[in-house]
Amino acid sequence: MTASSQSTSPQPAASTSRIRVSFEFFPPKTEKMEEALWTAIDRLAPLDPDFVSVTYGAGGSTRERTHATVARIVRETRLKPAAHLTCVDASCAEVDAVVRGYGEAGIRHIVALRGDPVAGLGQRYQPHPDGYASTPDLIRGIRALGDFEISVSAYPEKHPESPDLPADIALLRQKVEAGASRAITQFFFDNDLFERYVDRVRAAGIAIPIVPGIVPIWDFTRTAAFAAKAGASVPRTLAERFEGLEDDERTRQLVATTVCAEQVFDLVKRGYRDFHFYTMNRAELVYAVCHMLGLRPNGKASETAAA
Ligand code: FAD
Repeated sequence: MTASSQSTSPQPAASTSRIRVSFEFFPPKTEKMEEALWTAIDRLAPLDPDFVSVTYGAGGSTRERTHATVARIVRETRLKPAAHLTCVDASCAEVDAVVRGYGEAGIRHIVALRGDPVAGLGQRYQPHPDGYASTPDLIRGIRALGDFEISVSAYPEKHPESPDLPADIALLRQKVEAGASRAITQFFFDNDLFERYVDRVRAAGIAIPIVPGIVPIWDFTRTAAFAAKAGASVPRTLAERFEGLEDDERTRQLVATTVCAEQVFDLVKRGYRDFHFYTMNRAELVYAVCHMLGLRPNGKASETAAA
């Protein structure tokens, strides 16, 4: 499927269409983290997300754990899991084996990524000599192995390695032409900036849904440090809201919930209906925001919220 052969008005959706959410988790390292993950999944699952995704550690470091987590989701829940996959530091044969494993476990949706350079973000990316050279290449490889739904990343403020936004958008177009049917964005805090990005993506003839990635700010200092690495800007007004709350977790959580709800509600007002939450394996804040959006357990949507 090519970028231009798809629907030209996928987003913003008509303002009457229902809110759809997806939740991202990371594979747990320890038994305690596994318990926390499943507490979060059990809490969020009744909200009937469109899908839930499980990340793939840098350099394939969580290959087995990602597989085990998505396979357990298939076995024990009615959720539709998407497994993340990167092609960094792996041969095509190794990546293909992971894709076949996903298929055998009943996974039909892959979030296909290039991944960070082995030497770390900011270093030059070197493809594995026998590996997929780029994300479009990886997508073609996945599609050769089966009929998977493929989501990819998008960067409203451009990827840190990208020379400029047009180059980034050109790569997104290549990913769509290779077979991606949805892009999930890096997190951002400025909705104007996101909207300008979506306008430029549409102007480039890319019609797939661009789903905003929403990050709850559990710990402002850590989020700001991660944002700096990821090339996501943090508005001064946001920093001010968390100022002085370093030792006050309770208030921080209330502020974080308010900030997240404000961002999402503003996007709803602008016509957006799909949201991908980076849950960090914690349910409370995301559950509260989804509740305010009108989502209710077992698909019973509130009639009035988010209208
Ligand atoms: P791409 O979008 O394919 O490329 C990013 C940029 O790199 C391009 O804009 C371009 O400037 C440059 N580039 C790419 N190919 C070339 C080339 N051949 N020549 C020159 N420049 C090039 N990381 C993980 O390790 N595991 C995960 O599970 C994970 N999940 C993610 C989910 C989402 C929604 C997002 C937004 C990111 C995720 N990441 C994950 C992070 C991601 O792996 C990094 O941002 C990585 O550096 C780029 O991977 P990508 O697929 O986004 O790259």
